[in-house]
Formats: sequence, structure tokens, C-alpha cells
Amino acid sequence: MKIPLYDATFKLFEQVLCCASTFDRTPEEMVNYAIRIGEVFQEKVEENLRKWSDWSKEQYLLAERNRLLVRAAQTHCVYCEQPLDGTSHMDHIRPIKCGGTGEITNLVYACAKCNLSKNGQHFWKYLETKTKTVQSQIIRRLQKLGKQIPIDELEPANQL
Ligand SMILES: [Zn+2]
Repeated sequence: MKIPLYDATFKLFEQVLCCASTFDRTPEEMVNYAIRIGEVFQEKVEENLRKWSDWSKEQYLLAERNRLLVRAAQTHCVYCEQPLDGTSHMDHIRPIKCGGTGEITNLVYACAKCNLSKNGQHFWKYLETKTKTVQSQIIRRLQKLGKQIPIDELEPANQL
């Protein structure tokens, strides 16, 4: 995470220096100005990351509080229809890193095999690994359970 932050700040720094000729300042002033802008930008990005990490922690906590309710609503894996057992996993339909929440409508139970093969992938990316028939069966099962089917996928929030 440190490297993209540094790269983004460095790019901004370069941009500011590229415009140096349009400002009525000495080279030293321009460099100091660019450094300050870079610092402010870096602080903003870090603040957003902190906010995002607080938000995602809240979503994981919320999901844990919803776990029993989500489990109680299902007897079979939503992806492959195998009966659920003690090794089943709770799955975020839209992963939290893609903006998914810990609300019941974003949580399903899946067998360990399906959950591990989904492995935090975007919902539609995971569905691409299935045949068209299986895709529509999964969608139907999700709809029946009242789940929210992602209509688009956000980029992971920790990428710049
Ligand atoms: Zn399964």
C-alpha cells in the first residue's frame, strides 16, 4: 500500500514542477510548494484509507452479528446446492473490499469448497467461471433469499 501512495504523491509533485514556469516564484519556492502540496495530498489519501479501514471493520462486525440469521435462512450452499454443514462459510456476495456491506442482504452461506473458490473475487468474476445455466440458478437462489445482487462492481477501495 505504501508504494502506490508514494507513486501518486510523486506524480503530483512532478505535475506541480511542470507548471513551475506559469508561477511567479523562484525554483526553491516552487520545490517547497510542490513538497507541501504532496504532503497535503498524502495526508488526505492516508485519512481516506483510515476512514475506509474503520468502515470496513464496522462491516465485518455487522456481518458477524448477522451470522446466525443468515445461517438460519439456508440449508444448502447458494452456489452449488450441496447441503450445508459445520464446515460451511459465510460469504459476502459483494466483497467488502469492493464496497460490499455486512448487511444480511449481502451475506450468504456457502459450502467451504465454493467459498474458497470464490476467494474474495468480484461476484460477476466468480460467476464467469460457471455455465450460463448455473449462473441463472445462482441468481434465482439469491433472489429467493432476498439477497442484493451486485449490479456493478466497484474497484477495490484501497487502490489508487
Ligand atoms: Zn457450494
